[in-house]
Amino acid sequence: MPQKTKQTPMMEQYFSIKKDYQDAFLFYRLGDFYELFYDDAEKAAQILELTLTSRNKNADDPIPMCGVPYHAAAGYIDTLIEKGYKVAICEQVEDPKTTKGMVKREVIQLITPGTVMDGKGLHSKENNYLTAVIKDGDDYGIAYADLSTGEMKATVVSDEDIVFNELATLETKELIVAQPLPDNLTKRIEQRLGAVMSVQATEQQVGGLADAITEPLAKQAVELLHAYLQRTQMRQLGHLQPAQFYQTDHYLKMDYYSKYNLELTQAIRTGKKQGTLLWLLDETKTAMGARLLKQWIDHPLIQQAAIERRQLQVASLLHAFFERVDLQESLKGVYDLERLAGRIAFGNVNGRDLLQLKHSLQQVPQIQAIIAGINYEEWTALLTELTPLEDVVALIDEAIAEDAPLQITEGNVIKVGYDSQLDQYREAMRNGKQWLAELEAKERQETGIKNLKVGYNRVFGYYIEISKANIVNLTQPERYDRKQTLANAERFITPELKKLEALILEAEERSTELEYRLFIEVREQVKQAITRLQALAKAISTVDVLQSFATISERYQYVKPNMNQQQKLAIVQGRHPVVEKVLGQQEYIANDIVMDQETFILLITGPNMSGKSTYMRQLALTVILAQIGCFVPAESAELPIFDQIFTRIGASDDLIAGQSTFMVEMMEANQALQHATVNSLILFDELGRGTATYDGMALAQAIIEYIHRDIRAKTLFSTHYHELTVLDQELAHLRNQHVGAVEKEGEVVFLHKMMTGPADKSYGIHVAKLAGLPKELLTRASVILHSLESQAQSPMAHIDEPVEQLSLFQSQQQFVCEEVTQLNLSQMTPIEVMLKVAEWQKKLVD
Ligand code: ATP
Repeated sequence: MPQKTKQTPMMEQYFSIKKDYQDAFLFYRLGDFYELFYDDAEKAAQILELTLTSRNKNADDPIPMCGVPYHAAAGYIDTLIEKGYKVAICEQVEDPKTTKGMVKREVIQLITPGTVMDGKGLHSKENNYLTAVIKDGDDYGIAYADLSTGEMKATVVSDEDIVFNELATLETKELIVAQPLPDNLTKRIEQRLGAVMSVQATEQQVGGLADAITEPLAKQAVELLHAYLQRTQMRQLGHLQPAQFYQTDHYLKMDYYSKYNLELTQAIRTGKKQGTLLWLLDETKTAMGARLLKQWIDHPLIQQAAIERRQLQVASLLHAFFERVDLQESLKGVYDLERLAGRIAFGNVNGRDLLQLKHSLQQVPQIQAIIAGINYEEWTALLTELTPLEDVVALIDEAIAEDAPLQITEGNVIKVGYDSQLDQYREAMRNGKQWLAELEAKERQETGIKNLKVGYNRVFGYYIEISKANIVNLTQPERYDRKQTLANAERFITPELKKLEALILEAEERSTELEYRLFIEVREQVKQAITRLQALAKAISTVDVLQSFATISERYQYVKPNMNQQQKLAIVQGRHPVVEKVLGQQEYIANDIVMDQETFILLITGPNMSGKSTYMRQLALTVILAQIGCFVPAESAELPIFDQIFTRIGASDDLIAGQSTFMVEMMEANQALQHATVNSLILFDELGRGTATYDGMALAQAIIEYIHRDIRAKTLFSTHYHELTVLDQELAHLRNQHVGAVEKEGEVVFLHKMMTGPADKSYGIHVAKLAGLPKELLTRASVILHSLESQAQSPMAHIDEPVEQLSLFQSQQQFVCEEVTQLNLSQMTPIEVMLKVAEWQKKLVD
């Protein structure tokens, strides 16, 4: 930033403030505007489409400048934050009217992507996390918080990949570090997650906030996070909840790619919620419930008792249909209590917010009664948290007017009868109006001027207005002191009016001041209830998610799975929940999945497009549904509790991070082979296809053998290498399965039905035909295929015969031949014969 040798005092003040906020836009308050200067101005003018002007236009080096009115600043700040920038708000902290010389200015808040409290950057159904990471040797302390809700958690991990997974799962908006992290990790975070990095040099004692944390590194991370929040927010953060310690292996583990591949909360193609498991399950009625649902999907449980408790709660709600409908109605009336608690702590609430709090709390007795009425043991603990906070309701009801305006500084917020002094001022104001009306009538009568009127404006105060033509009719002109001259009228003040004005204005001013003070007192009292409010919010969101599970389970006829510790998996007529929702229940073909300690690897073959990937994802989603406590899409389900899910499905190419497709494939396989246990689920979809056929097939076989011998995890392995299907002769725990397809009139029909045994045919060229490839190309492919098949030599140790790839051309020929032999010529007219021949010709040529 250019600096002239000699600056005006104001610009000197600007520079002294700006030097501490180099990485932020400095919104510098000047009267009714926030002004930006130099680079800030040039960049902001472009991003926010503002007019770039300059200060000291005629000087040698004018200062680039742009500004926004303070009352419209929120929208501009939102835009900058959404684009990943930081904004420092610099206010006048002295009253310009009473200050001689330069008004003192200070930054009162640094708004960053990870610390937004409202506005566009904050989505009601999503948390907004900022995370602090500290590295010590191989260990990492991680602490994260959502400033808008006050939630704070911390952990320690000893693997860079887990740090990345945690940050990715949290979709963290901002990362706070004391020292740079390893280059590789930083690169991945910046490229894949797009989080803003902020450096905070020192930690800070956090009082009670880290009491529950015993791990030193996690404690340090909480302190770092807290120091950053204090530095940027510059106020008491009474709503921050004590940090909770968690361990990543206390939940079903899935790495970032698995979550991504399974489309749990984000669709691969669009990056949106539509088409994901979250989208399917979201029948929540509150924003808090929607956020908790996402947290649950990201963290399925692994303790059987906790899983079963949720499932039993869902069962109880599923059976109580009418109660559930009432519950939903009550939940709809509950405002976002978590974020409201945050805004109360921040001092950002108005009268209407408190009314919304009251109305929300008034729903609680009904919610409490419904849950108590269900009378189910599993709800007992939660019921104790569902307390209606009657004291808060009574306070707001007594103090806040039902039609309170948005502004808290303009009066009419406090209810009549709440404060006797306020009532007296209001009485004076009301009488004042009456007095003014009487004065006007008296003046009219005394002067005989019918259109004489008493009025008010901000600059001149109260006046008597008399049209110019009537001035001559004033009987005692000396009583009228001229205040303002208009084109057709004159405005006067009289001693009597002056006295009235003093009385009325004093009452008005005092009443506004008093109302503001009273409102702050009420807000401070409500603030005392924040911890109880947060506990209540948690209980209500839990009820909301569970009712959402019950609603979905009923709508799509899901069943309660039986969880076991014996590694028994038996899903009867299971369905893929999201594909079923999209296709419709009639269209989706249900399939069984059976595995146990004897058979834990399913080798799945079948044509392209037959449903192999869908079947594999179906199992993963069923497991996740069960372990978050929901029912599952099946006729019945016995499920073991899985500790981890590994997937290699689809093409999650990490090309941005500089990896090749095959490299990523092998890295993902390696993750599974290194970390999977006998209790894990591995889904490998066409592993090995990213390299030359022999390499791929050899690697695939070796990986299957390794899992079979050393890991014994439940594994679904789909492949187009039909040669691998002979492995069942040597690997006792492997079973072949295939997805059925039939040929009808020379066309392939996918049955989407799982059957035992290997597939006997491939239909790659048929699928290519479905995709609309040119005819000549398809015919040529058929010929090549035919010749390849006749020369085929197996690369594999066990291969007896190459599998038959049914050529498209051959199948059409076969079909025509069959029809010729079956034709009854004596029953046909010559025309019919001709038509038939034309049909055959078309089939063979197409
Ligand atoms: P490829 O080998 O080409 O990857 P695939 O065998 O993995 O194919 P999927 O991607 O699972 O095939 O399925 C292809 C399409 O078939 C899906 O988009 C879906 O619409 C449909 N499908 C899959 N399974 C079923 C089913 N059980 N019932 C009805 N439709 C299904």
